[in-house]
Amino acid sequence: MNLFEKILSNHGIDPIPEPGTPIRLPIDQTLTQDATGTMACLQFEALGIDKVKADLSVSYVDHNTLQSGFYNFDDHRFLRTIAAKYGMVFSEPGNGICHQLNLERFGVPGRTLLGSDSHTPTGGGIGMVAIGAGGLDVAMAMAGEPFTLPMPEVVSVHLTGQLPPWVAAKDVILEVLRRETVKGGVGKVYEYTGPGVAALSVTERATITNMGAELGATTSLFPSDDNTLAFLKTQGREDAWTRLEPDADAKYSRVIDIDLAKLVPLAACPHMPDLVKEVRELEGAKVDQVVIGSCTNSSYKDLATVAAMVKGKRIPPELSLVISPGSRQVLTMLADSGELTDLIKAGARIMECACGPCIGMGQAPPSGGVTVRTMNRNFLGRCGTKDAGAYLVSPETAAATALAGKFADPRDLGEAPQISLPETYPTLEAGIVYPPEDGSGVEILRGPNIKPLPLGKAVGREVSGEVLLKLPDNITTDDIMPAGTHILSFRSNIPKISKYVFSLVDEGFSARAKEKQGGFIVAGENYGQGSSREHAALAPMHLGIRGVIAASFARIHRANLINFGILPLIFADPKALDDVSQGDVLILENALENILEKDSFDLKNITTGKTIPVRIDLNPFERQVLSAGGKLNWYRAQQN
Ligand code: SF4
Repeated sequence: MNLFEKILSNHGIDPIPEPGTPIRLPIDQTLTQDATGTMACLQFEALGIDKVKADLSVSYVDHNTLQSGFYNFDDHRFLRTIAAKYGMVFSEPGNGICHQLNLERFGVPGRTLLGSDSHTPTGGGIGMVAIGAGGLDVAMAMAGEPFTLPMPEVVSVHLTGQLPPWVAAKDVILEVLRRETVKGGVGKVYEYTGPGVAALSVTERATITNMGAELGATTSLFPSDDNTLAFLKTQGREDAWTRLEPDADAKYSRVIDIDLAKLVPLAACPHMPDLVKEVRELEGAKVDQVVIGSCTNSSYKDLATVAAMVKGKRIPPELSLVISPGSRQVLTMLADSGELTDLIKAGARIMECACGPCIGMGQAPPSGGVTVRTMNRNFLGRCGTKDAGAYLVSPETAAATALAGKFADPRDLGEAPQISLPETYPTLEAGIVYPPEDGSGVEILRGPNIKPLPLGKAVGREVSGEVLLKLPDNITTDDIMPAGTHILSFRSNIPKISKYVFSLVDEGFSARAKEKQGGFIVAGENYGQGSSREHAALAPMHLGIRGVIAASFARIHRANLINFGILPLIFADPKALDDVSQGDVLILENALENILEKDSFDLKNITTGKTIPVRIDLNPFERQVLSAGGKLNWYRAQQN
């Protein structure tokens, strides 16, 4: 067996089914973050269960820590009190980014983790099967329900050799993205194998598994070996270690060979993580801002490398260098070692330990500007400036660029710094709040911005409506439900956040959907790529959207659409996209029967008189959920 199959088998999935077959995976740990977690907690509460049933559930606050009004503090207070009531661990704002903290404090090789954040696969760096999902799926896992997913194909990424100086783990995943593209990983697990694995530390592996999310993959996975033990020892958690490796004769659906020694510094160019070029090709181009941080690249080693590179130098005044450490542990280590002083003296601006600029929470680049970032996503507008271009690079390339004031290849800087890592890292008590044994008496504190959960509409005799928007390929969840300072504040207020649906693409969408009382969205390939943001389904549901007809869907977003009762319909012939225009009225007759029983059926275009053959790939469970108008309706019906 490969390692993914072994972990499945240890969780009772035996025999291992064929790819595509639905599996129900028991979940050991869950994580939520504030942008999706307030909703996940409201959903958990709506399930009517006394206490979290997963072995461990952690509620992190990392996405929106700005407190320019009462909204965010209210949400943080709500999350702290609901965690205490239902038995979740709470990580305070400023404590760090969920994925970095999960590695440091809670990750256990061989266990399963479901997180309401698309970069949950970061946990694969420590040998966990860690999967991103919508908040409702995570709420169900907190309630003890297994997570249903189609059995993925397992692809081996076979690593040989060792990274040359100045070439980093980020360049490994950029190389995989260059070859596989942002659609290449749908329905797949990328398992890293081969002798090159031993040359990568856990945090380097986590950079790779983190950005595996950009492939659209179900997850990515490294073995648990001596390096994993060494990492757990630094955290005082060596008891959590077990050796986990694939069998010598493990089978994979495909093998991708990468010789680490042949890699060079790479950059993903605007506005997609797979538009990868060599840094050499970009050298000399003007850069306005360099941002170093995020769950991809803000480990101690990453930031200590940057500190060593800028020590005793001065960042040119026309460039802004921004640093967000991944966790309070990382920040403490930088402070204790004096490296924080090196960064400050060089002119870096030090942010809170949080997602910050990665999710457009401040530090937007100038209009028409160029920002070079160590993050994982560079979708249009995500950095907070619609006409800026964002490039994704390693910390080494970012620091070299910051020093030069323009795109620079770190290999031109001479000898690479040698970073000596301490044997133990400080385990901080501040920032983590454990729940009381009995939380039944805890009062949940809710501010006026926390509104009740809306519910979806059950499928009736027919589903009809106007095509409210026609979109191209690769529409992201940022396009559907943008993030940013003022929008994320309304994450627990669906009526209010719904006003921003598609606001970057078509400002009139939300008002039109409301006026027409819903309808359809039509799109090309890979609709809903990007984050696990379930607001990208929940807010359209609130606006009355009944179906999305696309050439294909991204995995997590498709699941979110089903969870909220929106039909994910696939054009049987992608050319039929040309037969539908914005404003056309569509009707699905015998809707309930079709959803419950058929894999393909026709939509009628009332405006043109044409029929549009569509497919719907649903397992029996999804059919029930969709016809009930979403998972919450379905669960409630089961309880009655
Ligand atoms: Fe936070 Fe950015 Fe990582 Fe998402 S991708 S968890 S916003 S740091």
